Formats: sequence, structure tokens, C-alpha cells
Amino acid sequence: MATLEIKDLHASVTTEEGAKEILKGVNLTIRSGETHAIMGPNGSGKSTLSYAIAGHPKYEVTSGQVLLDGEDVLEMSVDERARAGLFLAMQYPVEVPGVSMSNFLRTAATAIRGEAPKLRHWVKEVKEEMGKLDISAEFAERSVNEGFSGGEKKRHEILQLALLKPKFAVLDETDSGLDVDALRVVSQGVNDYKANNEVGVMLITHYTRILKHITPDYVHVFAGGKIVESGGVELADELEENGYVKYVKAEAAV
Ligand code: ADP
Ligand code: MG
Ligand code: MG
Repeated sequence: MATLEIKDLHASVTTEEGAKEILKGVNLTIRSGETHAIMGPNGSGKSTLSYAIAGHPKYEVTSGQVLLDGEDVLEMSVDERARAGLFLAMQYPVEVPGVSMSNFLRTAATAIRGEAPKLRHWVKEVKEEMGKLDISAEFAERSVNEGFSGGEKKRHEILQLALLKPKFAVLDETDSGLDVDALRVVSQGVNDYKANNEVGVMLITHYTRILKHITPDYVHVFAGGKIVESGGVELADELEENGYVKYVKAEAAV
């Protein structure tokens, strides 16, 4: 069993006016096998949390800790984080012109596994996973995310998840911009991965609809740069009903 611990995490983003504190003391522990939904209004810092964990250079952790089985994640390079088993599916996946999807995936798998996957086995593995996600074969030779629709980008994030086999996956608004069919396919991909791997999932979302497909064990409300309430699925139902107004008001009053 693996554990990801986030302790009193504070982080700032560098803007033209200087550093601006976005994360204001995030505390969260995720064990492998658990799915935690992080729900909050736009601009509350959810993506900043995912970037801080992944080691994005624009987001500076000013205090607090992120530990993976007791190991200091914040001391690791971005590559080391991936090798340690952390995976981030970004809200806005980046385009990498000139690098084919198949090359990108094989390079990433090689870096993470420590050796190049055997070609014949790899091709079969990729084909199989692409099939499950309804990604047509031609995509293997297309440049990473270049000209992909929102839904195609999200499918590729889940394809990476399936092939890179992380211990912890941070999925940042994997549901945004998906139509009903794509949402079902992408959710099924996550559920398949969860069923076959001991993975801890941080499912960041603004809307409750993905939670109808992927059932979280815990739901956390994220507002003003930190977790302000935690509960079970019933908390998501309450948010569906009442929105985030109450939490945003409480934050503004502080
Ligand atoms: P969420 O994902 O919850 O919508 P974000 O983490 O994207 O929130 O943003 C939190 C706050 O930090 C917002 O006010 C946003 O404008 C600001 N912010 C995030 N990234 C940057 C950046 N690169 N430059 C300037 N401001 C940023
Ligand atoms: Mg946002
Ligand atoms: Mg975001």
C-alpha cells in the first residue's frame, strides 16, 4: 500500500505583479485504492494544487510538505516524480508538435519503467488500450495533442494513465469539455485502471456529473486555496443542490 500525504501546503504563482499566494494550507492524505474528489469553484486553486504536486516551475511551494511513502516529493525533479509513480492529467494538456503520440508514449514508458518496453509487446499493449478508449489507430502517428479536440486530448490523458501505470493519479477536470459519450468512455478508462491497479486517485472537478460515473470514496470542498470541508458522496449531492455559494461566502468573510 502506498500513501500520498499533503501537509499544510502553501504555494504561490509568479505573476507580473510578483508572487501571489494561491494555496493556503492544503492538508490531504490519499492511500492507494482510494478515490478523492476535489470539488471547488473556478479560481479556487485546484489546478495550482495539481501543478504544485507535479512540480510545475511556475508554481512555487513556499511551505508545507508532499510525501510519497514518506519520501519528499518536493525535493524530486519532475522526472523523478513520474518514476516514483505520480501522474498528472492536466486540465489543459499541452501540444507537442513534431512528436508523435506513439514516440511520446514509448519514451515516457521507458523513462518510468527504466527500460524500453519490448516493441512487439508494446505495440499490442498500446493498440489494446487505444481500442478500449475508442481512439482510432491513426492517432498513434499524430503529433501529441496537436489539433486534437478537447475530448481527444482527454482520451489521450487516460491512455497515458493506462500505459504509464502510476501509483497516484491527479486528474484535473478530466470531465471538462466532454460530451456524454466521451465522458462515459473516459470514466470507463479510469474505472478499468482502478479495478486492475492499486491506485490512489485525486479527481479534481467543478461539476458533479463525472461522479455519477466514477464513485469517490471521499469528497472534499476546495475554496480559497484550501480544503474547507470533507465528507462522503453525500457531500457531492449537497453541492449539486446548493453550489459553492456558502463556501465562497465563508471565505470572503475571513
Ligand atoms: P482552479 O483550477 O480552481 O480554477 P487555478 O489554480 O487555475 O484555479 O487558479 C487559482 C488562482 O490563481 C486564480 O486566481 C488564477 O487566476 C491564479 N493563477 C493560476 N495560475 C496563474 C498564472 N500562471 N498566472 C497568474 N495567475 C495564475
Ligand atoms: Mg479553473
Ligand atoms: Mg483548474
